[in-house]
Amino acid sequence: MAWKPRIATSNQLAIVTAAHAVNIAKYAMFTSFFAAAGKFYRGNLHTHSTQSDGDLDPETVCRRYQAEGYDFIALTDHFVGLFNYPITDTTAYRNEDFTTILAAELHTGTMKNGNLWHILAVGLPSDFTPPIAPNFKPAKGAETAADIAQRARDAGAFVTIAHPHWSGMTEADARSITAAHAVEIYNHSCVIGNDRGESFMTLEYLLNEGRRLNLIAADDAHFKNSDHFGGWVMVKATENTPMALLNALKAGQYYSSLGPEIRDIRVFERAVEVDCSSVVTIIIQGQVSATATLHGEAMITGRLSLDRLANSPWLRISIIDRAGKRAWSNPIWIRD
Ligand SMILES: [Zn+2]
Ligand SMILES: [Zn+2]
Repeated sequence: MAWKPRIATSNQLAIVTAAHAVNIAKYAMFTSFFAAAGKFYRGNLHTHSTQSDGDLDPETVCRRYQAEGYDFIALTDHFVGLFNYPITDTTAYRNEDFTTILAAELHTGTMKNGNLWHILAVGLPSDFTPPIAPNFKPAKGAETAADIAQRARDAGAFVTIAHPHWSGMTEADARSITAAHAVEIYNHSCVIGNDRGESFMTLEYLLNEGRRLNLIAADDAHFKNSDHFGGWVMVKATENTPMALLNALKAGQYYSSLGPEIRDIRVFERAVEVDCSSVVTIIIQGQVSATATLHGEAMITGRLSLDRLANSPWLRISIIDRAGKRAWSNPIWIRD
């Protein structure tokens, strides 16, 4: 059967030799969302309001994010008895240019260090059954975090392991959440509040075990200080609706950013090309310690050799702008 490119994001993709066709067709599947129909919508997937321990009421939180240029947010109030197990109803604050996804931060079960779990569930039904979680202390006989994560996923949610570094999470703790779609690798509130907001190692331990997890950057905003508008996701979807955004999130059709834009990623057998907003560094990471790194001034495109990453099953791309702001692709799996 004649090979046809699944997508043709560049002329080079269309003229590859047949010997490389199978691999490249496989690579192309992972990057196709950049070229797919629709547009990128900016959203924050981790936010609190007065329905739990945030300082602003839900409507004000929505209006602040919209005024800042966001297209959507998920209010993830703490799903504990102390706050009457809120899945905050934000539907009244949707409008032509802004939408919301019903969500919560789930708490049940303990990690190895004895602390209570924090799991983000974005896209929950409003009648999601609470666990036994009267407050922020672990409760006897409560459901495990792995079980509630699976329940949330089964109910339609995009499930993320929240702030692993701040939580003091072990590799084994993280491994136990088998229903997770993603790891929160950047939590702005933790970054500015305790310098424990970055969790790339937790993600990469799991990637290196073959777990196909994605990553998110988020605020965890409570509006008690400058904990908002720091990290977000850019989701490629055909429309700015909760369902289209959720489907795209679950499919990994997004990237995470503190500022810069990733505009296209093209994966070839021996190189990766990245188009982006103006940056000074483009990096490709993989399972091995070596990286491919390109330094320059005001780069909006770059081609990086994969020679030093030849055996890595996954790749991910980081870009850094002149101000030190970063953006991150999701992992791209190039080998089974
Ligand atoms: Zn939390
Ligand atoms: Zn939170």
